[in-house]
Amino acid sequence: MSERDCIFCRIIAGEIPSKQVYKDDWVTAFYDINPVAPVHVLIVPNEHIPSVAAATPQHEAVLGRLFTAARRIAEDLGVAESGFRLVVNTGRDGGQDVFHLHMHLLGGKRLGRLG
Ligand code: AMP
Ligand code: ZN
Repeated sequence: MSERDCIFCRIIAGEIPSKQVYKDDWVTAFYDINPVAPVHVLIVPNEHIPSVAAATPQHEAVLGRLFTAARRIAEDLGVAESGFRLVVNTGRDGGQDVFHLHMHLLGGKRLGRLG
């Protein structure tokens, strides 16, 4: 899929509306359109990286920024103390639907166990 057709690239470019919660030179974060928890934000690299399966050492800075942005967003949205879950679905068996790497930040309720 080309970046022109990528829904998250188009959200980052402002071509598709989103409820943005954070943006810097490395990552953009916006509310998930189909939330599964009271707080459900997607944090995405501004660069098109299809998935963790395509990540290289060159991506380490932006991958680190996903986590520090998550900490900051969790504080801003009031779930840092109560806790939250970060999820990165990868590939078919991982349930990845959008092939632009993204981190789900989930919180605001007691989340069930995985699996
Ligand atoms: P995944 O299954 O990990 O690939 O997650 C993709 C997520 O993107 C899903 O939770 C969708 O609800 C979300 N999503 C798809 N399109 C949009 C959109 N236009 N704005 C916000 N979230 C979206
Ligand atoms: Zn993309």
